[in-house]
Amino acid sequence: MNTELKSKLGKLALIRSKPFCYTCYQECPTGVCNKCHSDDLMRVTENGCEYGLDWIVEKILQTELSAVNLSDAFEESVRSTFESETVTVGWMTFDAITVMKDQDPISWRCAQSEYESLEESEGNIFTLDNGSTYYWTHEVEALVEDLD
Ligand SMILES: [Zn+2]
Repeated sequence: MNTELKSKLGKLALIRSKPFCYTCYQECPTGVCNKCHSDDLMRVTENGCEYGLDWIVEKILQTELSAVNLSDAFEESVRSTFESETVTVGWMTFDAITVMKDQDPISWRCAQSEYESLEESEGNIFTLDNGSTYYWTHEVEALVEDLD
């Protein structure tokens, strides 16, 4: 797991939100509520208020990036390897990708899941929800590149 990138995203979420006292229902820019003196504060953005930063990070990624379509990405990767291969049957010519997908969808799915594991272990794709949604790591890094 890319902990450095995660902590940078946490910083970004801090910058994009403000401390908020839910009891007094007001922003508390200093980090302490000036009415009730609580420092147990939520974070507020234009999307609402909640404890923690993860929800802000998730919203930023959802809003500003496109989730990786792994099925398309896998197909593209296979295509780049077998691009020129075609299969001729009788008078018909098919491209290799179409034939592989149609003739052995199970093998295709296995290869796709191996591709996903490899992309994740190499850090090319990034997830905050255990793989329900992936983003390209380089795009996530671009969001936080001006922070240090
Ligand atoms: Zn308060």
